[in-house]
Amino acid sequence: MKTPLVEMDGDEMTRIIWQMIKDELICPFVDLKSEYYDLGLVKRDETGDQITIDSANATLKYGVAVKCATITPNAQRMTEYKLKEMYKSPNGTIRAMLDGTVFRTPITIDSIKPVVKNWQKPITIARHAYGDVYKSVEILVDEPGVAKLVFEGQSGKKSEVVIQKMNGAGILQGMHNLESSITSFAHSCFKYAIDCKESLWFSTKDTISKKYDGFFKQIFENVFNENYKAKFDELGIEYFYTLIDDAVARVMRSEGGFIWACKNYDGDVMSDMVSTAFGSLAMMTSVLVSPNGQYEFEAAHGTVTRHYYKYLKGEETSTNPMATIFAWSAALRKRGELDSIPELMKFGDKLEEACFDTLNEGIMTKDLVSLTTNPKVKSVNTKDFIVAIRERLAKKF
Ligand code: NAP
Ligand code: MG
Repeated sequence: MKTPLVEMDGDEMTRIIWQMIKDELICPFVDLKSEYYDLGLVKRDETGDQITIDSANATLKYGVAVKCATITPNAQRMTEYKLKEMYKSPNGTIRAMLDGTVFRTPITIDSIKPVVKNWQKPITIARHAYGDVYKSVEILVDEPGVAKLVFEGQSGKKSEVVIQKMNGAGILQGMHNLESSITSFAHSCFKYAIDCKESLWFSTKDTISKKYDGFFKQIFENVFNENYKAKFDELGIEYFYTLIDDAVARVMRSEGGFIWACKNYDGDVMSDMVSTAFGSLAMMTSVLVSPNGQYEFEAAHGTVTRHYYKYLKGEETSTNPMATIFAWSAALRKRGELDSIPELMKFGDKLEEACFDTLNEGIMTKDLVSLTTNPKVKSVNTKDFIVAIRERLAKKF
């Protein structure tokens, strides 16, 4: 390796798995160069969360990070870890600093069939992670009156429209988005599509929301035509805009194998639907891509708390490490690509092949056993699963 990988360690069961992955699958094969940041809750508390900010800055500097799942503190965690503060979600902090978009892709295998039988390839959801209903304000109205939408510009210019003359009690909601955020979202989506060599779909409801959703549609179109059209043509992939309801119907009838960019709310709902239909949260990878082309790879699931407490009691656990392993393989492959180290890129591929070999032979963690159609399935614990992958990986060198 030339440039270090930004390594963000995390919490609970995934922290245990993290170490196993490094010991068994990475360090014996790769001369690993990483800059280590411990984002475990203890360290975040010790540093007043500065460590999270430092790790995001390192990602901006070096360009590629791999992250373990981390606890987002709530009231119960405040007591459990005797925290000084209820720190924000590390993912939220990192996403805000990288100004990125999150792409979620299922890891698919032959013996686990998606619920939608014509899906043959993964579908990646790209969710815009700023604004709309997630940053809206609301009023509960309990008498007749007039509701207005008012904007007062810094220059003194004022725009005002009547939302509704209310004839009685009701509800109101005001929301917004920003040109800069939508533009970043568009850049991240087109860049990622080029990276994966997959077509990009984008859907909104601009027939009804002519200005709001129309704004999204226009920005995507402009960003595409000005920056990415030539590259898309060269790769033989397409940018396809359609209405959200048409998109839903087409996604259901499709074979998969494309990226579906969604507005914040659509992405929230559709990513849960798509991931569930593909099988398991433990088989879902996630990558944050900044508009400038920085990458942070991780698993889509959390720290698997329930398994961790079993582990602490000395009980056997069968937690699925696939998504975390794929975060490592993708991060190393990306590092190899950026630094022109073909061996490192090849290692990422071989590691994934070894995982697929293991699963295809029927060796699986418990969560997959109930999903697979493989009749010769063998349920194993986390450590044995990782060791089985290591054996298959070693044979490839
Ligand atoms: P979770 O850790 O994803 O676990 C939810 C359940 O899904 C588990 O109890 C387990 O079901 C199953 N599961 C998830 N990943 C699995 C795997 N790799 N192998 C096997 N089963 C798996 O979500 P959570 O319990 O809601 O959250 C736990 C902690 O994670 C929270 O503190 C939360 O803040 C944090 N979190 C972090 C991230 C992140 O860093 N990106 C994301 C989400 C949540 P069974 O118990 O039925 O086996
Ligand atoms: Mg959701």
